[in-house]
Amino acid sequence: MRSYSLIAPAKINLYLEIIGDRSDGYHELAMILQSIGLADEIDVRSISSENIHVHCNHPQVPTDKTNLAYRAAELMVRQFPEAFAKYGGVEISIKKQIPVAAGLAGGSTNAAAVLVGIDLLWKLGLTQSELEELGSTLGSDVPFCVAGGTAIATGRGEQLSPLPSLDNICIVLAKYRSLEVSTAWAYKTYRQQFGDSYIRDSDNLEARANAVHSGAIVKAILDKDSGEIAQKLHNDLERVVLPVYPQVFQLREIFANQEGVLGTMMSGSGPTVFALFESEQQAEKIKLQVREAIVDEDLELFVTRTITHGIQVASSV
Ligand code: ATP
Repeated sequence: MRSYSLIAPAKINLYLEIIGDRSDGYHELAMILQSIGLADEIDVRSISSENIHVHCNHPQVPTDKTNLAYRAAELMVRQFPEAFAKYGGVEISIKKQIPVAAGLAGGSTNAAAVLVGIDLLWKLGLTQSELEELGSTLGSDVPFCVAGGTAIATGRGEQLSPLPSLDNICIVLAKYRSLEVSTAWAYKTYRQQFGDSYIRDSDNLEARANAVHSGAIVKAILDKDSGEIAQKLHNDLERVVLPVYPQVFQLREIFANQEGVLGTMMSGSGPTVFALFESEQQAEKIKLQVREAIVDEDLELFVTRTITHGIQVASSV
């Protein structure tokens, strides 16, 4: 039976602005998403039974129907019943490197990898935009995870405009292993606290979302000016997460006060905090300094970098 091994990179948010309420009940967002080198490995193989099986080496990740990778396989079965009948079920193995519930789109990138893997297994020949369209029914971050790189994401996060790739900006990620922030809680709390200032009519929503295309951080990305990008990092959700999670606030403060840090921000709904650096040497140095400043085995630190791709095939047998 054929199998594919796929690399599924995490993402960070260089920018996250909550613009308002959409008529479908979701938030209208303007984000800039960036793929990073930290990645899970996903193996997808055809099996003779008509089932979907998920295995994962991480105890916090469910292996039942609530796993986004499972849901991606289920979607492919529903969409392509003839291919399913021809090729049989699918076994999915997830080797987790990306911290879970971290604001790094771990589940979404796993789902994107399964869409790409099954497309290959079943020889469907889907285009990138067809894969993204399927992904958007699973979650707002899934379409971005398919192609990855650097992109503006508007709407619920599923409307993508690619930006020139930002290669090789070095990153330190910091996340407390046992600390999770619910994405649903973060957005609900933001609505409770700041909903009064939301834009609600569709013309103004669209105009504001489009404004991000000519914003200062996009200019800095077009100029490939990492110092300026780092100065223009922004995340509205910090307004609700930092006051409630002092550990996240402390990480932000520690990074902000280290020499050599270009800029620091929480990713997505957190609780991961990242900092940007010119060189890997500086990133490794600051990682050590943060480790010394916070003596807590629960704190995980990773050195990684910006990359220019989303899901990639590592090997096939
Ligand atoms: P996002 O940045 O897209 O909001 P996240 O990085 O905050 O996502 P995930 O790592 O995707 O969060 O995990 C969120 C929840 O989803 C976890 O509590 C976990 O139980 C569940 N989950 C389902 N499928 C997966 C998966 N394949 N990998 C990780 N978590 C998963």
